[in-house]
Amino acid sequence: MSTVSDYFGSQVFDDRVMRATLSADVYASLRHTIDEGTELDIGVANAVAEAMKNWAVGKGATHFTHWFQPLTGITAEKHDSFITPSPDGSVIMEFSGKELIKGEPDASSFPSGGLRATFEARGYTAWDPTSYAFIKGKTLCIPTAFCSYGGHALDKKTPLLRSMEVLSQQALRILRLFGNDDAKRVVSSVGPEQEYFLITREMYEQRPDLRFTGRTLFGARPPKGQEMDDHYFGVIKPGVAAFMEDLNDELWKLGILAKTEHNEVAPAQHELAPIYTTTNVATDHNQLTMEIMQKVAAKHGLVCLLHEKPFAGVNGSGKHNNWSISTDSGQNLLSPGDTPYENAQFLLFLCAVIKAVDDYQDLLRIAVATAGNDHRLGANEAPPAVISIFLGDELNAVLEAIDSDTPYAGTEKKIMKLGVDVLPKFRVDTTDRNRTSPFAFTGNKFEFRMLGSSNSIACTNIMLNAAVAESLRIYADRLEKAEDFETALHDMIRKTIKDHKRIIFNGNGYDDAWIKEATEVRGLTNYRTTADCMPHLLDEKNVEMLTGLGVFTIDELKSRRDIMLENYCKSVTIEANTMINMVHKRIAPAITRFTSDLARQAADKIALFPDLACSYESELVRRLSILTDSIAQRTNSLEKAVIGLQQAEDIIEEAERIRDTVLPAMSELRIPCDEAELLTAKSYWPFPSYGDILFSVK
Ligand code: ADP
Ligand code: MG
Repeated sequence: MSTVSDYFGSQVFDDRVMRATLSADVYASLRHTIDEGTELDIGVANAVAEAMKNWAVGKGATHFTHWFQPLTGITAEKHDSFITPSPDGSVIMEFSGKELIKGEPDASSFPSGGLRATFEARGYTAWDPTSYAFIKGKTLCIPTAFCSYGGHALDKKTPLLRSMEVLSQQALRILRLFGNDDAKRVVSSVGPEQEYFLITREMYEQRPDLRFTGRTLFGARPPKGQEMDDHYFGVIKPGVAAFMEDLNDELWKLGILAKTEHNEVAPAQHELAPIYTTTNVATDHNQLTMEIMQKVAAKHGLVCLLHEKPFAGVNGSGKHNNWSISTDSGQNLLSPGDTPYENAQFLLFLCAVIKAVDDYQDLLRIAVATAGNDHRLGANEAPPAVISIFLGDELNAVLEAIDSDTPYAGTEKKIMKLGVDVLPKFRVDTTDRNRTSPFAFTGNKFEFRMLGSSNSIACTNIMLNAAVAESLRIYADRLEKAEDFETALHDMIRKTIKDHKRIIFNGNGYDDAWIKEATEVRGLTNYRTTADCMPHLLDEKNVEMLTGLGVFTIDELKSRRDIMLENYCKSVTIEANTMINMVHKRIAPAITRFTSDLARQAADKIALFPDLACSYESELVRRLSILTDSIAQRTNSLEKAVIGLQQAEDIIEEAERIRDTVLPAMSELRIPCDEAELLTAKSYWPFPSYGDILFSVK
């Protein structure tokens, strides 16, 4: 039997393969491009393409594809085979540098939010050499960016790469001020923890709501849910263990660092966490992970649900974005150092994050906004829609001491001055005891916990990188001009703490009192829904920052706002129509059949035994008939709300109508249906129950 280290990365054209298959010159030139972002010349591209093709064909690949991440949130690929005809009737396998570098998928049906007029419908893809090519099935996949001919980004990778670049530039300016002349780049890294549900295909197939929308739209609570907390970290069932084993194998072959796996809080809910890597690669890997989870599940007769809220009343699924920044030599800039000087640098980077999160709370909320995630945020299981930062006791005490110019209790009684001699040495507590904070410092990284399980992590990291780059830019502008660096540094850290301490909150983020304090006393934003937050993408301060740093153009921002709102409207409309359909075709007929059978039986019994009351049957018929009336009336209201969407003047108004009329009508309709489920005999109910589904995998 082969060991993991034998086959780890076997499907990846990684550094090992490059070194083995490229000439020294070509390898050096490609490495330079990967590490420092320099342009690649066509001669090198041709040599790389040839080596890549030979390697891939040797592994059984017949096709190649430019693999990209359009704004649909999932990945896209169009396969071309390597074959080129020869005059003698045979074929040879060819792949040129030009094909490697640039592709022109006929991608006119991807959303562009008006960025691509039909005459330039094609758009093009461009190789991202910083993410290794890999083989999936029989296809060589080349990670690429996707742009319009006008140069506008039509994907999530392009702005992510731009945000990494500006963060690096601004962080290097700060490092130079601290005397670091060696660092060539600063990179942001991410370890995304991925939650998901596993259910059997048999259950899935019987639920039109799961098939059409990814979540259940009806379903009474099971007698046993997650109240016993016996699933969390519990023993993994054999069917799940077999899935996880296969999943790990597939991920490892693709060089994905799958590390931990465990059961989550809800029955049938699990988590997979990889070891962190650079933001760009982590994003590609997370997209691949989600795709492979679904494929492997299918092989096991299972379905992997990545929806944020597949079951009402049961914990939803999120994704934790563990984020840090480090130099190319591996120094983590969010790690307190051993010397006061290093700690001053650490405090400045920490402040940059605090300022960024406070100044751009809305952008972080926008980055995770989807119809699915709106069901989680603020539902006592995920952090609220209000963003705050948890720092832990030590760090909090350090910042408070600086803020109030008082001695820091943790050390000798010295005034907290950031001068080299007087800054105390401190250690931060690396255990994070607060699981309710949306943005928690966990020793040497920040964990952003608001992402939904199906979200691409690209959007979050674009906003995070850009916002932190902006803080650093402002700091660098000031510090570079300062006459006395240490005084200026101290003043700046102090000012950041004063200006932004409202965003720091170490208490319970799930508490209603906190939401009140956050919004009414501290003035933090609380955008409950996608419809509430998305228009703010175009607020002046956001546009200024994002376009100023060159992360987005104004047109790209406009198009993204529209596409995200369209996605929101479309997914909720599909849900509403699915509900209406399920009521008419399945739920109402089932209740009617059950009540008429009951009524007939009761009548038969009374005919035989006139002294019987048959009160069980008659009460049930009565109750179910009242519910049926209510279902009829509420279905009607939902239908009207959906039709009303046509009157919306623009996408913002449509999203508001979704929020204010369609979603409430859906919740209303669900209530009598779920009650009817509890009262109807199992053999009559047309769908498997929550209990059936959640405990289906053995
Ligand atoms: P948790 O307590 O939330 O399970 P872990 O310490 O297990 O936290 O880490 C969770 C994730 O954070 C993993 O993906 C891990 O690789 C990642 N991680 C650890 N250190 C860093 C870092 N410096 N930068 C980014 N991610 C990191
Ligand atoms: Mg975590």
